[in-house]
Amino acid sequence: MAGRTIRWRGAAIAAALLAASAPAVAAPSPAAAATIKRIESSPAFAKAVAAIDAGHDKWVRDIITLTEIPAPPFKEMARAEAYRDMFVARGLTDVEIDAIGNVTGLRKGGGEGLIVVSAHLDTVFPEGTPVKVRREGDRLYAPGVGDDSTGLATQLAFIDAMNAAGIRTKADILFVGTVGEEGLGDLRGVRHLFTKGKYQGRAKAFFSIDGGGMDSLTVGGAGSKRYRVTFKGPGGHSFGAFGLVNPMTAMSQAVVDLYKIVVPANPKTTFSASRTGGGTSVNSIPNEVWMEFDMRSVSAEELAKVEKSFLAILEQAAATENAARSTRDGRITVEPVLVGDRPAGITPREADIVEFATAAYAAEGITLKYSSSSTDSNVPISLGVPAVTISRVASGSRNHSLDEWIGIEKADNVKLKRIGLATILATAGM
Ligand SMILES: [Zn+2]
Repeated sequence: MAGRTIRWRGAAIAAALLAASAPAVAAPSPAAAATIKRIESSPAFAKAVAAIDAGHDKWVRDIITLTEIPAPPFKEMARAEAYRDMFVARGLTDVEIDAIGNVTGLRKGGGEGLIVVSAHLDTVFPEGTPVKVRREGDRLYAPGVGDDSTGLATQLAFIDAMNAAGIRTKADILFVGTVGEEGLGDLRGVRHLFTKGKYQGRAKAFFSIDGGGMDSLTVGGAGSKRYRVTFKGPGGHSFGAFGLVNPMTAMSQAVVDLYKIVVPANPKTTFSASRTGGGTSVNSIPNEVWMEFDMRSVSAEELAKVEKSFLAILEQAAATENAARSTRDGRITVEPVLVGDRPAGITPREADIVEFATAAYAAEGITLKYSSSSTDSNVPISLGVPAVTISRVASGSRNHSLDEWIGIEKADNVKLKRIGLATILATAGM
């Protein structure tokens, strides 16, 4: 009986937690549903979808071609040059590789503003990683085959479809292959596009084609702060100088205290002590140790809170060690260096771009789930530009691993592109 009660209560608590953290799901607004219906029932859209259907094998070939051009972090140039040529071949204008390395190309519409559609060029894999694609039935395997080669190829399929149907959007569309989306790239490509390049301040909406699956839309940008922290002290002989302050003690204390911070489950907020090193020898009090930390939240406010607590903990840990042992030969100091800074934020449910996506999925009978992640959309979202990250492929898994794969079955991938294209066209105006 007792066990049953506890189990029931456990289940109730789990359900409550799930409800608290589950993304809100809602029907599209009648206006958005009507816009999507109007677009999808137009002859031009039917032509575009026919081109997507007929272009399925080409899409697969583009994925393979792009995947097999290595694009390690900070070394995206070879893939950028190939992608630039693919933009040129599709008749985009003003095609160039900008100062930071992004590939940009315009598809002129009626000039009623500018929307940006993009996918990222870089992978997480270092130089020398084998990138030959292996096909087994309806699956492609290779490091980076999904993330984000498929996003790049899906973007090309959208351009081909619009061209085949002769669609002229009200807004101009800037298509982009960005650099530096992954890891220490720190979103430098999209950051440049929005804060420095010639298109800065012009975009009224932004799409990133990144991530996979048939029923989710990324509307939140999980922000992150990453620090490399160095603790220093006088060092000394482990036996002869015993009693002197030790930076290792301070760093350990900081880790223990960090893990006492209570963060909210919703908005999801996290922290991690991730990588460490230092010391002189086994028989020395170290004069220097270091550690890397990662903090994330979908809320800018919660991220700022956990960062503030973290920085206070570092100072306190050094002070505690200086008070606990002798500072005769020197004191413990701590130097936090910010090595990653991705802004957080969320595109509101009522924004047109989210409404149109919701309506385009609803038109296929799919109830959309909203999620948060760290993608190129973080930057426009943080600047108040409505942005979402849409799915590049119907199925796949093992991103960022050597056995990454995607599913290239036709029906679902054509459907997904139909949804993505309808959302883009509704946002650009058609
Ligand atoms: Zn990605």
